[in-house]
Amino acid sequence: MSNLFYQSRQPRPFLDRGEGIYLFDEHGKRYIDGSSGAMVSNIGHSNPRVLEAMKAQMDKATFGYRLHFRTEASERLATKTASLMPDGLDRVFFVSGGSEAVESCVKLARQYALTQGQASRWKVISRFPSYHGCTLGALALTGYDPLALPFAPMMQVMPKIAAPTCYLDRDNLTDEARGLKYADLLRDEIIAQGPDTVLAFIMEPIGGASTGALVAPDSYYARIREICDEFGILLIYDEVMTGAGRTGRFLAAEHWGITPDIVALSKGFAAGYAPLGAMVARNDIVEAILDAGGFLHGFTYAGNPLACAAGLAVLEEIEREGLVANAARMGEVLKQRLEGLMRRYPMIGDVRGKGLMTAFELVSDRETMAPLPRGMNAYLRLVEIAYGNGLIIYSRRTRGGAEGDHFLVCPPLIITEAQVDEMMGLLVRSLDTFCA
Ligand code: PMP
Repeated sequence: MSNLFYQSRQPRPFLDRGEGIYLFDEHGKRYIDGSSGAMVSNIGHSNPRVLEAMKAQMDKATFGYRLHFRTEASERLATKTASLMPDGLDRVFFVSGGSEAVESCVKLARQYALTQGQASRWKVISRFPSYHGCTLGALALTGYDPLALPFAPMMQVMPKIAAPTCYLDRDNLTDEARGLKYADLLRDEIIAQGPDTVLAFIMEPIGGASTGALVAPDSYYARIREICDEFGILLIYDEVMTGAGRTGRFLAAEHWGITPDIVALSKGFAAGYAPLGAMVARNDIVEAILDAGGFLHGFTYAGNPLACAAGLAVLEEIEREGLVANAARMGEVLKQRLEGLMRRYPMIGDVRGKGLMTAFELVSDRETMAPLPRGMNAYLRLVEIAYGNGLIIYSRRTRGGAEGDHFLVCPPLIITEAQVDEMMGLLVRSLDTFCA
């Protein structure tokens, strides 16, 4: 028995070391990290420049409490982060992870409303399905019943609208009309809730664990922004998974030219080198709160110099190596290869995503997109077979109103074309076993 306990009894080997897109276990077995952990290790493992920067910071100071000292690492990381944001998103607040980033966005929005004399506004509408984190505040926004329902009595569960799962729709609408149809669900929900009670809307621009890299039609994004403006509701983008270059732009929001009011970042932001996340917000929101006496929020470890030094080195590495552009390029290659597999495996019903936020879904019938039987546990079985073959991918079973087994193939953004092919070789071997 180990004193340490995990979320389940699934046995795993000890991790020995990482190098680029590869991980090695205690037995020397090599794995391609085809999901970058949980879409975290965007610049690959053991990057020497990041390790150097962290060592240099360690030699000076590993911790200085933010209420006692400013640190150069955190100031420089904030400046760098703001420089990578769309115009208007200037103010950065550090946290230690994705759930903390989401909670911070919500609490910032609420405190801003209070400064504007809008105490009646407190509801944050989110989507179903969605994933925003596992702390009670973030869970209240998370549209995934198995995770949320046990805790429902302990939190204020927030209203949800259906996320666009257009590939399942069997209507004759154009893509554009479908995007507008789903976006207008927000309008309906705001009206149903009472516009003067609604504070904000939060969405993953491309669903991650929730929908497996599901991208909405372009019209969706612009209309959501319009609706938020119409009702004076803040638009929060949860870019915890999509941010820091994963989708082929630094923020996924850039694909549609959208400027949210507040953005949550983590995961690829420090790429696994340190527990770090950030909330980035409009300057006037932050100024109003500071003028009113200060932001009632903060975590002890947030913005510590070691984590910030790691984050800064990661962002510099992303720029130096052109990793955002590489994610866009390799994403195209990967998508093409996965689409190619659709000829060989009729079970692959859909291939989707942007950049290296890529996924495929297994179905029992490509025409109707009927899911595989639940009892087949495809999402677990294929992942285990792949793991045995030295390929790590990430899977879930859930999609909108229906259910399905989707698999995120999201390797580090440093991946080369030859490595994409190496990864595909392992995936084909795994699918062959799975389908046999
Ligand atoms: N938001 C999104 C979109 C996520 O994918 C995740 C993690 N999967 C979170 C929030 C929560 O992040 P963390 O696990 O670091 O708290």
